[in-house]
Amino acid sequence: MRLKGKVAVITGSGAGIGEAIAEKFLEEGAKVVLNSIDGQQLNKTEENLRKKWFDNIYSVVADISNQEDSEKLLFSAIEHFGKLDILVNNAGINAIGSSYDLPIENYKSVLDVNLTGAFVCSQIAGKLMKDSGGGSIVNIASIFGQVFAPMRAAYSSSKSGLLGLTNVLAVEWAADNIRVNAVAPGYIKTELDTADQAEGGYSDANIINRTPMKRFGSSKEVANVVSFLASDEASFVTGSCFNVDGGWTAFGAW
Ligand code: NAD
Repeated sequence: MRLKGKVAVITGSGAGIGEAIAEKFLEEGAKVVLNSIDGQQLNKTEENLRKKWFDNIYSVVADISNQEDSEKLLFSAIEHFGKLDILVNNAGINAIGSSYDLPIENYKSVLDVNLTGAFVCSQIAGKLMKDSGGGSIVNIASIFGQVFAPMRAAYSSSKSGLLGLTNVLAVEWAADNIRVNAVAPGYIKTELDTADQAEGGYSDANIINRTPMKRFGSSKEVANVVSFLASDEASFVTGSCFNVDGGWTAFGAW
């Protein structure tokens, strides 16, 4: 119960890694505001989690690339649960394609969600946390913010930017007792990975062979690290990025 009494907002928690983070936070005693841009998906996830955690869940359909929606989302934690201790900037999208031809609109959409959306949510949450004595923000980055593959200009720019943002906010807000860290997953089997495989020209076997631990990671394995960083057990950890990648980023051999 390392998050007992805490209130968390997790963006993009209607599916995949965000849903696993929500479940882990609930197991650890937190109250959780779920979010997705997709109302149907969110209803299903909320219904499922409510079976076990009843009123410890509230959900808000919101597009975090829209500032008004983000305000509605973050303020709902105060309105519904009375405070905000933790923000996880998890919502993310990808646009795989040749950098010669990638439509600028697609490029901007990725930056709007993965980077600007995370900044706007952090800005709103940061002010609330400052006023209440502190908090913890965890940004879900990616191995592709640190090592690079072709056809991922938008995604890698957004995730490298998110790591920069993590460090700036960490040093800027440390004096206000707000910790800001990142978690960089390797390959995790979610809908995002399925869509990426369709567009990105790689197979499960490619990923398994390239990963020193010879397997995909699970959403739960990402959630475990996020839960630690969000908790008071990580009270002197800020401006750090934890890779949850089975050794992908460390691997530099032939
Ligand atoms: P997913 O597609 O399975 O789930 C993403 C969630 O975000 C969904 O609930 C979706 O509805 C929501 N979402 C998308 N756009 C949104 C918006 N504008 N506003 C609010 N919600 C929105 O993806 P996932 O694989 O669980 O990825 C979660 C995070 O982890 C992303 O930031 C992704 O970049 C990162 N990541 C994933 C992997 C992987 O292998 N799956 C690897 C590294 C990093």
